[in-house]
Amino acid sequence: MCIFCEIVAGNIPSKKVYEDDVAYAFLDINPFHAGHTLVIPKRHVDRLTDDPTALGEIAPAVTAVAALLQEKLGAEGLNLLINSGAVAGQEVFHLHVHLIPRYADNPGMSGLAKRDPDIDLDGVYQRLSA
Ligand code: 5GP
Ligand code: ZN
Repeated sequence: MCIFCEIVAGNIPSKKVYEDDVAYAFLDINPFHAGHTLVIPKRHVDRLTDDPTALGEIAPAVTAVAALLQEKLGAEGLNLLINSGAVAGQEVFHLHVHLIPRYADNPGMSGLAKRDPDIDLDGVYQRLSA
């Protein structure tokens, strides 16, 4: 099983943000911005172009999580990102959409993709779960 299939199965712990019949969403362990979440199909799909229906299946979850991040964390906007293929930076070969909340103190594309080791994952999780 791949690492994200292990997360869906509950064999590897994750900070779950949202779940429906076909999708699972959890906090990225090494976030760009507070609330950085990954939305994945529960079934294994290696990458975007391997399955014509997978992205559509998880679209409702992506929209629901985007609303949750805005409501609970006060994100004013967010970026969606799919890295498809190793050359694009895909490291985990189980399709996932990055939802990256954005805040007024660090706006714009240039501030998008820098890991921030100071983010308090437990604190973010508590705010999302409240
Ligand atoms: P990729 O580069 O494949 O688009 O993104 C993979 C993402 O998965 C990375 O942002 C990385 O931090 C995250 N990640 C990798 N392993 C784990 C894990 O075990 N748990 C969680 N929550 N995130 C992970
Ligand atoms: Zn998988």
